[in-house]
Amino acid sequence: MVERMADQVLATMDTPSTQPRDQCVIRLDGVHKYYHLGDFQVHALRGVTLDIYSGEFVAVMGASGSGKSTLMNIIGCLDKPSRGSYRLDGMDVSQLQKSELARVRNRKLGFVFQQFNLLARTSALENVELPTVYAGISPQERETRARAALERVGLSERAHHYPSQLSGGQQQRVAIARALVNRPAILLADEPTGNLDSRTSVEIMDIFQQLNEEQGLTVVIVTHEHDIAQYAKRALEFKDGKLRRDAIIKDRLIAREVLPTLPTLEEEDTGDEQRAPEPEAN
Ligand code: ADP
Ligand code: MG
Repeated sequence: MVERMADQVLATMDTPSTQPRDQCVIRLDGVHKYYHLGDFQVHALRGVTLDIYSGEFVAVMGASGSGKSTLMNIIGCLDKPSRGSYRLDGMDVSQLQKSELARVRNRKLGFVFQQFNLLARTSALENVELPTVYAGISPQERETRARAALERVGLSERAHHYPSQLSGGQQQRVAIARALVNRPAILLADEPTGNLDSRTSVEIMDIFQQLNEEQGLTVVIVTHEHDIAQYAKRALEFKDGKLRRDAIIKDRLIAREVLPTLPTLEEEDTGDEQRAPEPEAN
């Protein structure tokens, strides 16, 4: 099924990127990743070579276990390649020590996760402010930036709500604001819509598309849903730790145009109890 849908969504392989070469922000060369489980070794990435340019919007696809999260962890400097090199914004990060990696991560990258990962007893505003604390920004500037980031995702009115008082979509928007607050060059999101209903997923893709178009933010998302990948500009498909397909997205969807055609939750669920969506296995 993946193959069939991929054929509908993707153009031919090896479509060259249209971005100029000097703006390469992510460059992986022959990257391998091994995990050691006792005597057993998992070869999670098997020689990945890949360039991503400034201003791209990339969807990383593939079946469960194909290496998507491993790739994102390496791109996000949360983990290092076992072999091969990774250059982020021209800097070889495969050689950096842990503390240096953390600094690069805080300065250049914003992260969004499937489970939102907000602190429960902390307001939306304080959640968004958190990364600025580590970046050593003055308290006043922190709050100004956090409020601006919340406004960017349309949540100014909810600044003092706790995560439990917010819907899943609102929590994910807080998480996006938190990812933006240090003004990263690259936004990385691993299954950002995995816990959201269809309409809310498109609302989240709308935010990503706006950030990508209006601010030139480079966006890389992992998704196993082809209809979500269609909002990106380029799709990478992984299989068994290898990049099997790299293509420009044909018939790209624009979330702002799709949203008016989707039913709202109220229309869909009248009289029904609201159910939380089943979390997807990673
Ligand atoms: P995906 O995100 O595409 O589902 P992952 O990158 O999470 O795939 O996993 C790729 C492979 O590496 C899988 O076989 C998985 O079981 C294994 N793996 C991932 N993380 C770890 C880990 N921390 N320790 C051991 N094996 C892991
Ligand atoms: Mg995963």
